[in-house]
Amino acid sequence: LFAEVAGAPEDPILGVGQQYKADPRAEKVNLSVGVYQTEEGKIPVLRAVREAETRLYNAAAPHGYGQISGNPALGAFVQELLFGKDSEVVRSRRACTVQSLGGTGAIKLAADLLHFVVGKTKAATSVPTWGNHNAIFKQAGFDVSHYQYYNKADGTIAFEQLLADLRAKEAGTVVILHACCHNPTGLDFTADQWKEVLQIVIDRGLVPLLDIAYQGFDRGLEEDAFSIRLFAESGISFLVSSSFSKSFSLYGERVGGLTVVCQNADEAARVLSQVKQMARANYSNPPNYGASLVATVAGDPVLRAQWEEELGEMRARIRSMRVALKNAMDAEGSPRDFSFVTAQDGMFSFTGFTPEQVERLKKEYGIYAVANGRICIAGLNNHNVQYVAKAFTAVQKN
Ligand code: PMP
Repeated sequence: LFAEVAGAPEDPILGVGQQYKADPRAEKVNLSVGVYQTEEGKIPVLRAVREAETRLYNAAAPHGYGQISGNPALGAFVQELLFGKDSEVVRSRRACTVQSLGGTGAIKLAADLLHFVVGKTKAATSVPTWGNHNAIFKQAGFDVSHYQYYNKADGTIAFEQLLADLRAKEAGTVVILHACCHNPTGLDFTADQWKEVLQIVIDRGLVPLLDIAYQGFDRGLEEDAFSIRLFAESGISFLVSSSFSKSFSLYGERVGGLTVVCQNADEAARVLSQVKQMARANYSNPPNYGASLVATVAGDPVLRAQWEEELGEMRARIRSMRVALKNAMDAEGSPRDFSFVTAQDGMFSFTGFTPEQVERLKKEYGIYAVANGRICIAGLNNHNVQYVAKAFTAVQKN
């Protein structure tokens, strides 16, 4: 039966993580996977989450099935984070939210809804993008094209090209946009650029999916939702994929949500029924535990304040590591100015290293980055940043 099955390639990001694990060198550094780590190089258990875990443990509730659409308190929290307290979208009930298996699961539900229920066949992703955008939409039956995002020559957003590419898309094309903290470039639109993109989306009849996997990692929970609130105010229908992997440090618990913003409450109820049917036929209902943790934190003002503080701490540490890397590169005499690292947003930096330089970093220094030159700034700390800067400088010189 399987004699002719060819092996599939390793995942370009998760595969690197496996190689890192197998590397025996003590000085090794993992800058590949998009996971926040503390100054000690550990994935944190947030204090607010720890307290929620204790409460859940003490409640000793039975592990019954949840709803197909997931934890309703989680859904309400997702909408509050996206649209703000007392927003028009929430009040009018013109959006529905379904709990998903992380942000990935939300994107898959979005793609399935748009393809199998709405009949869309074309999608467009940024160049470059998080690779799974392409894979998920292809697997859902889409013909995936692209729009230019990055200008290699000067390390900026190729905005004019991007506008031209979007304008050339056929009406009804699903456009996947990174709501904040663009992965992998770390370059986000300004408010005015978002307005221009929105105008093209409206003029050309494109279907936006805003992917927000890092809310709170750029400037703050409210600020990072700017693009989503702008789209909501415009009155168009669109979709949002949310992830709590990073913001709650709950990677393996797989907590996320798909939100579909419709024209009115009746439409939202019908869309919800369709998304539920897809979830039912796919995984029946989502896991309870991670969503209960998030809902417990969200529902308690003290825990919620603590979580926001901890999110702020993660954000601040990433910022300080950007500055530390830039300063260390200056001190090492890097042939290239690394100021771009401090200008970029979110967890990642697009270094401009070639696949050959990335390979040398791995082989000679045990420093693991993604082949496209993306590094996770949150993998840096005060113990390893000098070592990393030395290696980064060396591979540029010869
Ligand atoms: N979108 C983007 C842009 C991401 O970077 C990620 C995580 N790497 C996701 C979605 C998916 O997140 P999750 O781990 O919650 O599935």
